[in-house]
Amino acid sequence: MRPKTLRLGVRRAMVCDMSGTSLAESPRSPVTAAAVQVTALLDQAEEARLRGDYRAGSSLARQSAALAASAGDGAGEARALRSMANQLLRLGEQEAAVTACREAVAVLETLQDDPAICEVLTAQAMPLTDLGMHEEALEALARAYEIAQKLGDRTLLYWVHNRTGVVHGSMGDRDRSTACLMKALTIVEGMDDEARFCILNNLGDNAVYQIPLLRADGNHAGARETLDNALTYVDEALQLARDARHPYRESICLDNYGMLRALDGDFESADRMIEDSRAIAVIHGYRSLESAALQHQAHVRLMRGECAKAIEGLLEALVRAADAGETPMMMEIHRELSDAYEQVADFPAALLHYKAFHALERTAHNHVAAARARMAVHRFELDNARLEAELAQVRSAELEVATLAWQRQATEDPLTGLPNRRYAEARLPEMLVSGGSLSVAMADVDLFKGVNDRFGHFVGDEVLRQIAAVLRDNVRDTDLVARMGGEEFMVALDGVDAGEARARCEILRAQVASYPWEGLQPGLRVTISFGLAVVPAAGDLPAAMVLADRRLYEAKRAGRNRVKGD
Ligand code: GH3
Ligand code: MG
Ligand code: MG
Repeated sequence: MRPKTLRLGVRRAMVCDMSGTSLAESPRSPVTAAAVQVTALLDQAEEARLRGDYRAGSSLARQSAALAASAGDGAGEARALRSMANQLLRLGEQEAAVTACREAVAVLETLQDDPAICEVLTAQAMPLTDLGMHEEALEALARAYEIAQKLGDRTLLYWVHNRTGVVHGSMGDRDRSTACLMKALTIVEGMDDEARFCILNNLGDNAVYQIPLLRADGNHAGARETLDNALTYVDEALQLARDARHPYRESICLDNYGMLRALDGDFESADRMIEDSRAIAVIHGYRSLESAALQHQAHVRLMRGECAKAIEGLLEALVRAADAGETPMMMEIHRELSDAYEQVADFPAALLHYKAFHALERTAHNHVAAARARMAVHRFELDNARLEAELAQVRSAELEVATLAWQRQATEDPLTGLPNRRYAEARLPEMLVSGGSLSVAMADVDLFKGVNDRFGHFVGDEVLRQIAAVLRDNVRDTDLVARMGGEEFMVALDGVDAGEARARCEILRAQVASYPWEGLQPGLRVTISFGLAVVPAAGDLPAAMVLADRRLYEAKRAGRNRVKGD
């Protein structure tokens, strides 16, 4: 009999549920009616998940996500999408799970919630692997790794290493898988028992594949060492599963343990353990674990040379797997049946199963190709939506800048930066309403034409700028200084009586007159005249401005560089 290698492609690695805790940790959305409903639906979805009713749970989570999206509640939408992905995964709806994960990542990116993005990417690797999209799975994990590393988060790093190990394992690269799992094992210290169980069980699972390969290579020392290590790992894992009274973990671990015992030549214990695994699976309705146990029992028989019994068991397992629609499992069973029939020299039966295996493989291949195509479209749509959203954001930001610029242009004098006439005319009535009393002063630079003529327009402009600064710096924040046009300014003083207003204008006049104009241009002297009027309470603003203008004219006539008022 030729040496047999184990070729069990069906995943018996443990994929734990990471989302249970993190959903609770996610930031709560603001309390609005929609947010309350989003939370209520999500709570129901999580209740369903805990009951194991993933069908109802995923549908509730989907409703919650849609509602959150329409209410613009990003955090709620992300939480709902994660719950949905998690439950779809349990239902074996990998494609829908990947889609939900991708949408969750897109939403979480807008929220810049890096830990949650890391978790979703890590979770997403599993359905991608199941779909045969290993590259995409590793890509997601590479991104998750970068985030976990940046955050320096040990728990996240653990999960990334663990999952990366599982993905490499399912790609058949058991050495790389073990390297990742060992990395995870070094981090797991101090984490919860579930995390420790997962890593130990996954290492055991890996060894089941590695040992026959090492033996086939003639590396018996390596195979022995791997087997001894693996036996310690699964022994501890089994203890952890039993301590936690977690039947799923116990069942999956017993199966791995049994396979390792068989590799150790202890077929009696192997048989017992796998039978125990199967019994637990039957009680709790873990169909895929039940099929796996049946297949492995048959495999152990094959190892013992009990081909007829093995074939019987494999045929039973095949019916189970077909009932449950477990194609990867069916493929493995067909392949093993082909080998078993070959060993008993029943070549027609061997050929039949060989052909069945290839037909399923082709179908699975087509299925993966189709799923890949559909998901490429989905990714494209998602990228497009993201791009559109970014563009819209840029557009609205540009619009805001343009609006601000336009507003400034409309209300600000470009030379001096002071408010312009348009602004002053709109603002004065408001000041009159809000303040107790208001005084308006019209101010005009004296003999400014002469400044331009002697020193040039450029100096003239600079004089206007510096006058504007002097006026603005010598009034209160509640007052208003505006450039009304040319060399004419307006000062509106809030909440002061006539005497106080006149005193303040006097200060402004003196500041301009005593300003060190020589510093700007030797021989330059600049003064300014004011005409001041108090606006009577609830009074006529235009009349007061006309009066101020008239008084300005009076100031000019009286010799300039003075204030004329009441
Ligand atoms: P008065 O004391 O009677 O007001 O004499 P004035 O020379 O100031 O009066 P006039 O109205 O004759 O001259 C105003 C000058 O102000 C004419 C114009 O060229 C100048 N001017 C108006 N706007 C600007 C400006 O933005 N920059 C410069 N450099 N000059 C300006
Ligand atoms: Mg003038
Ligand atoms: Mg003038």
